[in-house]
Formats: sequence, C-alpha cells, structure tokens
Amino acid sequence: MTNNKITIAIDGFSSTGKSTVAKQLAKELSYVYVDTGAMYRAITLYAMRKGYIKSDSFDVPGLIKDLPSLNLKFVFDESLGYAAIYLNEENVEDEVRTLEVSQYVSRVAAISEVREKLVAQQQEMGLEKGVVMDGRDIGTVVFPNAELKIFMTATAEERAGRRYKEMKEQGQDVNYEEVLKNVTDRDHLDTTREDSPLVKAEDAIEIDNSALNIEEQFQKILQLSQDTIAAQKI
Ligand code: C5P
Repeated sequence: MTNNKITIAIDGFSSTGKSTVAKQLAKELSYVYVDTGAMYRAITLYAMRKGYIKSDSFDVPGLIKDLPSLNLKFVFDESLGYAAIYLNEENVEDEVRTLEVSQYVSRVAAISEVREKLVAQQQEMGLEKGVVMDGRDIGTVVFPNAELKIFMTATAEERAGRRYKEMKEQGQDVNYEEVLKNVTDRDHLDTTREDSPLVKAEDAIEIDNSALNIEEQFQKILQLSQDTIAAQKI
C-alpha cells in the first residue's frame, strides 16, 4: 500500500489560531501535531531561569554554549488531548505560555544557533510525513516541499483580543494593551529578523481568519487537506 500521508505546514503571525486548527486537523486525520513555537518558548524559559535573560541584558553566548545539553521533547497528554512540551524531562507546557516568555521569545528565536538546533529536530519529527506542524518558517525552511502550506493572518486587534481572552481564562493577570503590544512587537521582530524571517511561502494558501469562526476555519482547511491527500493517490 502506498503511504499517501502528507506534510501540512501552517505558518502565520502570532495568535492567528494556528495551533487551534493544527490540533483539530491532526486529530481528524490521525496525524502528529508539532507546535514548534513551544520549542522556542522552552529554550526561552531555560534562558530566563539560568539568568541569561534579564530585563536589561541577554547573555547570548551563554545560551549558545548550553544548547547541546538542552533536551526538548513532546509527550502526549491524555487530559490535554495533545502533546505537552518537556524541557530536560520536565513538563513545562504551562510555564512556556506566560506573557513574560512571550516577551522574550522572539529575541531567542532570532539566534541562528537556536534555529539550527530546532529546525533539525523538527525535520526529523516530520520524516515519516503524516504531520501537522505550525510555526513561522515551516513552509519556507523546515519543509519547503510540504504538500500543503497554509499562511494564516488576522488583524492585530482581533488576535490580541483572542489571546487576551485565552490568558484571562487560564487565570493569568494581564491587560489587553500589553497583550496587543506583545503581538505587534513579535510581528515586527519575527518579520524583520535576518535568519528565516516570517514570510509567506510562494506556494502557501493565505487564510485571513478575522471574520471566520473556529469551525468555519477548520472546515476550510480540512477540505484543503483532504483535496491534497486525494491528489496524492492519483
Ligand atoms: O507560535 P508561538 O506564538 O508560540 O511562537 C512563539 C515565538 O517563537 C514566535 O513569536 C517566534 O518568534 C518564534 N517561532 C519561530 N519559528 C517557529 C515558531 C515560533 O521563530 N517555527
């Protein structure tokens, strides 16, 4: 039997709902979901804990020196329904979602040595296909040959509103203005960095979900996935 599994790359700006739709797709298609943002966040958490990142300084060489000893992995969590991120055998799934980590992560993600390590691991995780991976450079750098590439956008205000609601529901003490600032700051850093900036791959399908609800977005991308999978069989 031929393996007609495909690789689905979902890229886009912060808080565009990439992970929501990626998780839904992976479940529906019985594919593996990989949240690459969680990997950059885990390295950022490590740098914060080690004191490499402080409010007024960032010891980049210190972090680079430790990279070979950092171990990241995903372990499926039954109660979450998806895989949680582990940093050196510790489940850090909740800790990597704080606003503080969000405030530093784009600076960590701009370091080429960090990207090299994570991209290599991501490529290995997708070797067998049947993977839905979300991030910023999946369709351009990690899997330039992915059969389906989606690029998600929405207005900054819409994205900040969703993110704010989500963080409040998790019990985090945040205000809308700081969440909006974080979203626009990260847009700027992610699109202007030198190494693998956030850019739409030429062959990616752009979806502006400002006016789509979660179900409409899911149905649209599921249809695209099924069409692409069907085309593999021909
Ligand atoms: O997807 P998420 O918002 O959790 O990603 C956090 C940050 O990690 C992004 O703002 C970006 O700086 C970085 N990132 C990246 N490349 C990826 C995934 C995330 O640079 N593939």
